[in-house]
Amino acid sequence: MTPQTETPVGPSKADKEKIEYVRNEVLRAGEHLRARHTWLRHQDTIGALILAISIAAMLGCAWFYAKGVLPAWACIALVAFFASLTHELEHDLIHYMYFRKKAWAHHLMLALAWLARPSTMNPWARRELHFNHHKHSGTEVDIEERAITNGERWGPARLIMTFDNIQSVLIRALQPTHGLAAMRRRRGLQELRALCSGPGKLCEALGISIKHNELPLDRPPIALHARLGKADIVAGVRIGITKAVDLPWRYGLKGSRFLSKPF
Ligand SMILES: [Zn+2]
Repeated sequence: MTPQTETPVGPSKADKEKIEYVRNEVLRAGEHLRARHTWLRHQDTIGALILAISIAAMLGCAWFYAKGVLPAWACIALVAFFASLTHELEHDLIHYMYFRKKAWAHHLMLALAWLARPSTMNPWARRELHFNHHKHSGTEVDIEERAITNGERWGPARLIMTFDNIQSVLIRALQPTHGLAAMRRRRGLQELRALCSGPGKLCEALGISIKHNELPLDRPPIALHARLGKADIVAGVRIGITKAVDLPWRYGLKGSRFLSKPF
C-alpha cells in the first residue's frame, strides 16, 4: 500500500509538455493568420473600434427606446449583444491583448469595458482571478468560474447566485484599539497581542457569533470606517491551507505584531 498524499496543485510534467505544445501551436496559427490577413496586425485599433462601436450602439439603443422608436424587447436584446462584445474585449484586455505597450489606452479600454457592464467585478481585480482560472480551470480553487456559478446544480438558487459579485475580503486578524476592556472580558485574557490574532479569537473578542450571519456591513451593530492615515499593506501567500498555496491572497499591515504570523 502506498501512503495517501495530497494531490499537488498545478500541472504535472507531462501536462506541462502538452500545455507548451498547445501554446506553441496556437501562437503559430496566430502568426500564420496575421501573415495571410495583414489587416489583423492592427489589433489595437480593431479592439478600440469594436469597443467604441459597442458603447455607441448601446447608447443609441437607449436613445431610440427613450424616443419610443425601439420597443423594449428589441432594446434589451440589442444592448445584451453589444454588452457581450464588451465582455469579450474585457477578457482579451485582461490577457493584455490590446495596447500592451500604451498603458493609458489599455486602462481606458478596461475602464470603458467595465462601465459598459458596471454590475460586474472590476477588471483589474478580475485579472488575478482570471489567471488563476486558467491555471486551475475546473477545480475547486477556480474561484472565478465558481463565482459565476459554473459547477452549481441548475435551479433557482443558481440564478440568485449570479447576482453575487464576490467582492469581499475575510478579516482574519486585527489590531485592537477600541473597547479593550470588553474584548479582554470576552476573551478571558489580558495580552493585547493575542486578543484578535486569528479568526476565532477575533470573533470572540468582538462578540461576533452565528447570529450575525448575513447582516449588512454598513448598518449597526456593524460599522466599517475608512483608515485615517496611509497604511503600508503587504501581500503574501496564505497560511494553513493545502490548495492554491502559491497565490498571494494574504494581505496585512507590514510589520504588525498583531498577526499570528507577521509578514
Ligand atoms: Zn482567459
